Amino acid sequence: MLKSIAIMTSGGDSPGMNAAVRAVTRTALHAGVKVWGIYGGYHGLLDEEMFEMTSKSVSDIIQRGGTFLGTARCKRFTTPEGRQLGYKNLVDRGIQGLVVVGGDGSLRGASALSAETGMPIVGLPGTIDNDVWGSDYTIGCDTAANTIIDAINKLRDTASAHRRVIVLEVMGRNSGWLAMTTGISGGAEYILVPEEEYDMDEICADMKESYERGKRYILVVVAEGAGKGFDISQQIVERTGLDTRVSKLGHIQRGGSPSVIDRVRASQLGENAALAIISGLSDIVFGFDRGHVVSINLHDAVNNKKKLNPELMRLAKVLA
Ligand code: ADP
Repeated sequence: MLKSIAIMTSGGDSPGMNAAVRAVTRTALHAGVKVWGIYGGYHGLLDEEMFEMTSKSVSDIIQRGGTFLGTARCKRFTTPEGRQLGYKNLVDRGIQGLVVVGGDGSLRGASALSAETGMPIVGLPGTIDNDVWGSDYTIGCDTAANTIIDAINKLRDTASAHRRVIVLEVMGRNSGWLAMTTGISGGAEYILVPEEEYDMDEICADMKESYERGKRYILVVVAEGAGKGFDISQQIVERTGLDTRVSKLGHIQRGGSPSVIDRVRASQLGENAALAIISGLSDIVFGFDRGHVVSINLHDAVNNKKKLNPELMRLAKVLA
């Protein structure tokens, strides 16, 4: 059994990361294992911004969005030299295993660190995009989806009053999960995602016809990876002449107090990660599959691309 572990959050922040860090920390402390918190992701690892944590270090954080450990993007860590320095900084403190909470990129970095140095690593998927292969859930995706739905509800009120077309751009550079789930639950007529081609001529002709049949308003949800909201709105105006407005939610989607689902799931994942790392396991990521916690091979998680559920894509079209 390991005697000392470290935990960090890395890459884009997401609501629920705090709950995960709290669960890892308290589970490990409960088992008599020392826990180090690393500030600012891989930056903090290289700059030695690490401190030993107590149960109190993670008090009063479960309800907070963001991550109290801070997060960063770190270029130095993408080089083998950077990772060797990270390894040395862990070993110098007697740290025998590392838990990394982050997105695709952070897990890729963790995988490289483990492969090159043998440092045991357990990953947790922390990103609002829900795009980590092998898991149907990532920490923060539920809160972000609920933030978007709140915006959609408000946009629908004003769209209906003015018979407008509303284009809402949401996050998701490579993944349409947020756009698809919020589009379906927000009753969007069109959902544009990077995983699927679309034809603006066809969409605009369809929109015109809908208005002629008496439709009061139309909602288009677009993932940023499928196009810029402003461009799409401009194309709609040019081709249909319909009164069109565009909204871009931006970083509001990352913030906010985590939902019940994100708090509970992050806590479950955190407990599993702590138990796994202290018992000497490595190169795994914990996620969810149909409501159950599962472990995924870290190498597989970072070398495969998660697909958007085709059933959701089909349903979106049926209900539009
Ligand atoms: P996210 O984890 O949210 O996907 P990034 O892709 O920005 O965010 O990754 C966070 C950090 O992880 C990067 O700044 C870098 O330090 C590290 N990282 C990302 N990709 C790699 C890689 N291929 N090899 C090593 N480290 C990486």
